[in-house]
Amino acid sequence: MYHHVKKLMYTVKVGDPDPRFGKMLLEQFGGANGELAAAMQYSIQGLNCDDPGLKDLLMDIGTEELSHLEVIGTLARMHLKPTKHDRELADADPLVAVCGGGGVNLFNSAGNPWTADYLKITGEIDVDLRSNIAAEARAKIVNERLIDYCDDPGSKDALQFLMTREITHLKAFMLALDSLDKPPLQIGLIPPTKGLVEQYFNDSTGRDDEGNEDMVGPWNDKKAFRRVDNPAFSPEAMKVDGD
Ligand code: MN
Ligand code: MN
Repeated sequence: MYHHVKKLMYTVKVGDPDPRFGKMLLEQFGGANGELAAAMQYSIQGLNCDDPGLKDLLMDIGTEELSHLEVIGTLARMHLKPTKHDRELADADPLVAVCGGGGVNLFNSAGNPWTADYLKITGEIDVDLRSNIAAEARAKIVNERLIDYCDDPGSKDALQFLMTREITHLKAFMLALDSLDKPPLQIGLIPPTKGLVEQYFNDSTGRDDEGNEDMVGPWNDKKAFRRVDNPAFSPEAMKVDGD
């Protein structure tokens, strides 16, 4: 059950409202990596989770994300509010000004409506935790860019708080994934096909304008894989066990 407390998780202060920046802030309100997406993704994964410890974790963080939604929504609203009665300021975001009267709604910074398509919910806790680790990393970088685009100390301060919490969540999700003690490449139950899984297909070949040809790194060297050059032109090189 949810309960609303009439207090923000972090104090929000804005000096000079900047509607154009307010529009950018909507990315973290109703965008793909925003607070609502995080809150819904973790809370709904929690509903699907049979492990009581991990369910508790998902509900803790999912609920905290709702509090982040309130903080970023309050901040965005402060920046967008002046668009209601000012024709020039309304130019910053006609959707917010004309349809929303200067208030926030669940749109991203380009005015696209929030969608459940943003959510990654698979019903496999290790797969979900990986999605959550990536989601926290994306939220961190979005907050960081918003901080970089902002001159207002109060706005920067609130965004610094939100950005920091994402790293805290990242750590908790990483520790939860580690606690499963699953080999990193073991996903689901059906094993991958031997012989095929060890092959690296060198599908991008030739020389680019800077003179770069095929590159080798730990991700495709001999220690990691058997290299197959140009498989499109020599499909017989793609061997699997039993062939
Ligand atoms: Mn958050
Ligand atoms: Mn988070």
